[in-house]
Amino acid sequence: MALIEAPPVDMILFFQKVRKAQQEWAEEISLALTEEQKEKVQTLLSKKEHAWSHELFPFEPTRLRQYGEGILDLLQAMLQREDGSDENNLGTLSSLHKLLKGEEASEFYRLLALGDFEELEQKGLALDIDLPLLHYFIRAMLKPYLLASSKALEETIATRDWREPFCPHCGSEPTLGRLSKEEHGKRYLYCSTCETEWPFRRVVCPFCANEDQYSLPIYYVDEERHYRIEGCNQCKRYLKTVDERYYQKQERLDLYEEDVATVQLDLVAREKGLRQK
Ligand SMILES: [Zn+2]
Ligand SMILES: [Zn+2]
Repeated sequence: MALIEAPPVDMILFFQKVRKAQQEWAEEISLALTEEQKEKVQTLLSKKEHAWSHELFPFEPTRLRQYGEGILDLLQAMLQREDGSDENNLGTLSSLHKLLKGEEASEFYRLLALGDFEELEQKGLALDIDLPLLHYFIRAMLKPYLLASSKALEETIATRDWREPFCPHCGSEPTLGRLSKEEHGKRYLYCSTCETEWPFRRVVCPFCANEDQYSLPIYYVDEERHYRIEGCNQCKRYLKTVDERYYQKQERLDLYEEDVATVQLDLVAREKGLRQK
């Protein structure tokens, strides 16, 4: 079964609505850390390991269910505005319904709270749900927790001192880059899973550590000088990057929004033979 098909404008709106809900849910989660826990986090970071862990911030199945059902409702509302008769979408929605709201749901949220992703994938596949779509839902349901934990660890994690190619908070790979205007093009990496940003060396691929500048091509799209695709001919991956020095936008830069709004860059990257993962 395919992924959900919808016009990009609708998808962007959907992502924005989901994010707003996630931010509200995150506000309701209170995570207080003891001094001992904070010290544990510091030790992890000093060993170049990321801070977040399941033990530190356990998930509650009832909350996860609230998030899963909420996100599914938003998806359904988005598709209903369209011609609701797209068979593919209807099939996918019905499977998601079974998984997140139907008979399977209790077991699904129990497994999700345990972090048993292998078993979750089996459940998704049994219902013919595309893995990328399932992964999107899983990440989206866990995000309120990650936002809350990122906040709780704000003062514990010194992101400015982190130099690794993965997120100091949740351990994910970067999803976007930023070249700072104030710091004359200093490079930052951004994790959209938990919305954390940290500095990183400029001419090096964050995915394979390639430092050969001749095999790290940069591509631009039309006249949009403030967006660039930083590719790597060694691992064939790419990172969308916002170059603030050329950005005319006055409001505060929101990298999450930039990520969802720059689908055209992903298409160009794909044409160049590069891939996201
Ligand atoms: Zn992260
Ligand atoms: Zn690479």
